[in-house]
Amino acid sequence: MRVAIRAYIALGSNLGDRLGFLHGAFDALAGLRETVLVDRSEVIETEAVGPGVQGRYLNAAAVIETGLEPRALLDSLLAIEARAGRERANQARWGPRTLDLDLLLYGDRVIAEPGLTVPHPFLHERRFVLEPLAMIARDVVHPVLGRTIGELLEEARA
Ligand code: ATP
Ligand code: CA
Ligand code: CA
Repeated sequence: MRVAIRAYIALGSNLGDRLGFLHGAFDALAGLRETVLVDRSEVIETEAVGPGVQGRYLNAAAVIETGLEPRALLDSLLAIEARAGRERANQARWGPRTLDLDLLLYGDRVIAEPGLTVPHPFLHERRFVLEPLAMIARDVVHPVLGRTIGELLEEARA
């Protein structure tokens, strides 16, 4: 395995067997090549943010150590979503989904490429992301904002 980087991933589901999709995603993360699942948060239930009336979400976070490069990791996340029955075509942005996996942090790398922005651009604004993330990464520093996840959660509460 190449030098392992700690990467943090947000998990969300608001369609179908939500808990089953999250558990399946934890297992799939653990099964990625060159990757170890280090820790996972508890699962929380949150109100959907998005168009129209939608079911509530289950949200969680995971930390992995991986030798996958960011782009390969993102592709793997999208493949796990697809295997969970996530349909992208014709689906409104922020519409209901069986599984959403977002790459929140990849070590302290800052990436701004077409199709890949890290840290995730809305990480610091979303309590449904920060709350589970803080369970496993309270003292991790956001490489752009220079604040810990715990601090960002406190500020998002304000
Ligand atoms: P949001 O990004 O606001 O959480 P979303 O998760 O609903 O919205 P998706 O439709 O799941 O958005 O993803 C759209 C595209 O976002 C993906 O195909 C991917 O290429 C891109 N993307 C860019 N940066 C990231 C990232 N850090 N994690 C996951 N996807 C990303
Ligand atoms: Ca998302
Ligand atoms: Ca996503």
